[in-house]
Amino acid sequence: MVIIFRIVIAALIIWGFWTLVKFVIKRVVQRDQCPRCEGKGYWLGMRERERCNECFGTGKLQRLSKKS
Ligand SMILES: [Zn+2]
Repeated sequence: MVIIFRIVIAALIIWGFWTLVKFVIKRVVQRDQCPRCEGKGYWLGMRERERCNECFGTGKLQRLSKKS
């Protein structure tokens, strides 16, 4: 029984670690994402799909122009 308990604990630790890693990766990706177009590079205007002026259609923040 003790072995099973240890396996469960180990699995929980690995799962928690993996969740943390995924969370950090997501945060890093979102940091680079353009908040205006949500990383798409465009947004839907009145008539047609318009290119995002904030990120120039790349979907990523231009780090050179802005300081965070
Ligand atoms: Zn954008």
